[in-house]
Amino acid sequence: MPSLLLFQNVRVLTPEGDADWLLTDGAHIAHIGMGAPPDLPMARRIDGEGGYLLPAFIDVHVHGGNGFDTMDATPEALRGMAAFFAAHGVAHFLATTMTANRESVRRALRNAAACLGAQPNGATLLGVHLEGPYINAKAKGAQPGDYVRLANAAEYADWLALNVIRQVTVAPEFPENAAFIRACAERGIVVSLGHTLASYEQALAAVDDGARQTTHTYNAMTGLHHRAPGVLGAALTCDALLCEVIADNLHVHPAAMALLVRAKGTQGVIAITDAIRAAGLATGESELGGQTVYVRDGKATLADGTLAGSILTMDAALRNLQAATGLSVAALVPIFSTNAARQLGLAHRKGSLRAGYDADLVLLDSALSVRRTVAEGRLIYSAVEM
Ligand SMILES: [Zn+2]
Repeated sequence: MPSLLLFQNVRVLTPEGDADWLLTDGAHIAHIGMGAPPDLPMARRIDGEGGYLLPAFIDVHVHGGNGFDTMDATPEALRGMAAFFAAHGVAHFLATTMTANRESVRRALRNAAACLGAQPNGATLLGVHLEGPYINAKAKGAQPGDYVRLANAAEYADWLALNVIRQVTVAPEFPENAAFIRACAERGIVVSLGHTLASYEQALAAVDDGARQTTHTYNAMTGLHHRAPGVLGAALTCDALLCEVIADNLHVHPAAMALLVRAKGTQGVIAITDAIRAAGLATGESELGGQTVYVRDGKATLADGTLAGSILTMDAALRNLQAATGLSVAALVPIFSTNAARQLGLAHRKGSLRAGYDADLVLLDSALSVRRTVAEGRLIYSAVEM
């Protein structure tokens, strides 16, 4: 692959407004310019056909896809997931674990630690999002209830020592979980409140302990009551909390998505898929956390009808969120990359199109379908033969 890629005939969405062309040099963005693109015989020219070039998507909450799951704990699973995500515009992701026994979680963490970084022909694995097991069994959603438990220092010290966890989802209403929240925050791990029945006050106490995000906001948390605003009330009003949202129109009504974006602004929302191994596969039976999942009509559920993750992809999430909010693609960019990069401490080189930043790019056509995906200068997906 040549190290120079020149994207032209495209709207380059930079924080300062639209530009006309972008040139990569190896792993980085070399130049962004207006007007006619430079005449560089060495560069591979990519015609954007009047579409959009924006920072590649970052998915911080995704269990699997295309038949693979983080809990498979194999390199093949992470590679298969990474290739599937690349086809949907994702250049970086956090492989997300399920609530499970200590050894199963450890296996998934060790596997991810061994596989960190660029996956062949796929997105780059940034680390793990540990979802559970320190959650509330009464708000477990599709997490297996048998393994839900209180934080245990010996257990999580072992997991944290693997240095692969970048985000955790935890229920803050149990005093035992406060030390875990503080231990994660001290290490720079994003602490996200989820699968929780905490009160508004307990949520704010967790913010004091270092919590900075809410997991699949609206889902599996205390809702908004005007005399008891709950975790949702804290999420909507506390600037310290950024809010994940599953923008599949099933987990959250489009009007509730629009409300979230109005309350938080585009700097305060993070689109995620929460996708499972069934994503990208045909309708039928699948699996999540050892449970049978039934996929039909775009919906993944357990036998009792509980939503079991999603089969959403990030490009579809962008189309859904645009329809729900009426905002421009440019306005939605932070929700799909910049905000996640900031949470993960990567905003100085990822999540925005700027000269010198990593060449993490997604090229979309005017209907917002993915044409090309680039991760650190690697062309990891092309909808057309190159
Ligand atoms: Zn969840």
